[in-house]
Amino acid sequence: MQRSIRYGDARIAFAICFAPKPRRRITIHVLPEGSIRVDAPEDATPELVMAAVQRRARWLWCELEARRERCLHVLPREYVSGESHFYLGRRHMLKVELVEGGKTSVKLLRGKLLVAVPRRDPLLVRASLEDWYRQRAREVFARRLAELAPRLPWLSAVPSFRLLNMRTQWGSCSPSGELVLNPQLVKAPRVCIDYVIFHELCHLREHNHSPEYYRLLESVMPDWVSHKAMLDGLAELLLNR
Ligand SMILES: [Zn+2]
Repeated sequence: MQRSIRYGDARIAFAICFAPKPRRRITIHVLPEGSIRVDAPEDATPELVMAAVQRRARWLWCELEARRERCLHVLPREYVSGESHFYLGRRHMLKVELVEGGKTSVKLLRGKLLVAVPRRDPLLVRASLEDWYRQRAREVFARRLAELAPRLPWLSAVPSFRLLNMRTQWGSCSPSGELVLNPQLVKAPRVCIDYVIFHELCHLREHNHSPEYYRLLESVMPDWVSHKAMLDGLAELLLNR
């Protein structure tokens, strides 16, 4: 029996196999070729199975995304039309337009990333996109910080931040209280951005990864573990520039 659930903008399809007793539990398997099989007891209703799959939707989405990433990873980015690029957790198709004698510009329009360049040059497209991501990162991070920082009683003001491309880190903070955020993080879903910001803001009170630190993080973002898992699953894909 084929069914599907929604997760954000994604639709996750799966096949349900009803097995005779003694099977009692619903188990979910991501098969090597990327399809999903759900084994269920024969007396389980499709609604019950759907609900079980929905509870694991985030995990399934990460698994599928990680799989896509491994396939994609074989191909380095070429910065040509048709390629997909992430912004706030969504894939956007790149469209490169040649504007003879015109200026370079980047626009997000109707789900497409339009890059206008005066000459066909993947390096120029890449540089224009990098600039655009930095601008977006500066805006989005400032907005999220302004929203999240006032919820934390140990902060008397919204901390400042600077952008820095890092190969293996999304953020850090200095003892003086300045945050450093990786501009590539703006490619991740908003909950992942919030997780990184909370992670760093908690360090302004607990400067290590002690049990007290995690208690603090848990108190401000109870489901941080799943947001971190999602970000970890996307890391290679988002950091592939
Ligand atoms: Zn940390």
